[in-house]
Amino acid sequence: MKTGLIYDPAYLNHDTGSHPENGDRVAYSYNFLAKAGMLEKLVAIKPRPATMEEIELVHKPVYVTRVRDFSNRGGGNFGEDNVGSRGTFETALLAAGGTLSAVDAVMERKVESAFALVRPPGHHATPGAAMGFCFFNNIAICARYAAKKYGLGRILVVDWDEHHGNGTEEIFYKDSSVLYFSVHRKWSFPGTGHANNVGDGEGKGAGFNINVPLPRKSNDDDYEYVFRQILQPVAYEYNPELVLVSAGMDTHAKDYIGQMNMSGPGYARLAAVVLEIAGRCCGGASVFVLEGGYNPKALAEGVLAVVNTMVNWDPQVEHPAAENLLVKIAVKSAVSGVRRAQERYWPVL
Ligand SMILES: [Zn+2]
Repeated sequence: MKTGLIYDPAYLNHDTGSHPENGDRVAYSYNFLAKAGMLEKLVAIKPRPATMEEIELVHKPVYVTRVRDFSNRGGGNFGEDNVGSRGTFETALLAAGGTLSAVDAVMERKVESAFALVRPPGHHATPGAAMGFCFFNNIAICARYAAKKYGLGRILVVDWDEHHGNGTEEIFYKDSSVLYFSVHRKWSFPGTGHANNVGDGEGKGAGFNINVPLPRKSNDDDYEYVFRQILQPVAYEYNPELVLVSAGMDTHAKDYIGQMNMSGPGYARLAAVVLEIAGRCCGGASVFVLEGGYNPKALAEGVLAVVNTMVNWDPQVEHPAAENLLVKIAVKSAVSGVRRAQERYWPVL
């Protein structure tokens, strides 16, 4: 499938020193793709900075001003685990804008799918606060922008980062036009993401927020099981017009922060489920956006696996049935808990 890659060396201008969320992450991944001969197979898409109007589709103007002033003063410590430098604000605008460049390329059918290799990450950022290394919620801005510009009423956001995307959940909690699906490590930062948080708003958003909390050391089979048992049937029912992915690779067994047990090639299996959904529902229209992943080498393995799956996508390939996966009992019971919480909204479960 024709696949776009969004990257710019300017993503290194958000200087965090020896912080785990640093520029080596994306630079290493980009070079890794180059060494694997992958760049020639991808359509390079130059990111543009998001405008204030676009950032404020999600964030409060007073908060945006705070980030800008912090950055212009030379950065330092922003609180809540966030550090930055002069250049943080512009880099954060370029990260959010990179996802918009991606969505435009996909919606205008210049590519079928795109991977945004951007930083800083976004899914913890709420309308008025930075959190967990995130300043602006890239994926949420992307979803709001896509809905507005292309008149979309059903966008699926799949978040496979190890941590719950509390910011994304909060932004869309009362909104049925965005179905937020998050699989994450139970009780990990920031402690949100319970299975019974199903969405809200006089019934309007109910069922459009799906949380799957998993035990430590969950692996490729566990994750694929969750995707095939919960995500896929619900997504086919929802029938999205666009699929966005918060693609964090901090679930890799060798990650410096994460405590999960995914392998590099395992991410190809998760990407395959997402592409099956996008292929069946919306002509493949999908944008993968980098979130966490703090061991540059492990992160790069994940990025390569996902991008390779996109480039070589063949909808005819048969995938193993979920029953054949080797799944932990605790994961099966987590899936049952999600079914109990969601089955009244999704009879297919
Ligand atoms: Zn994470």
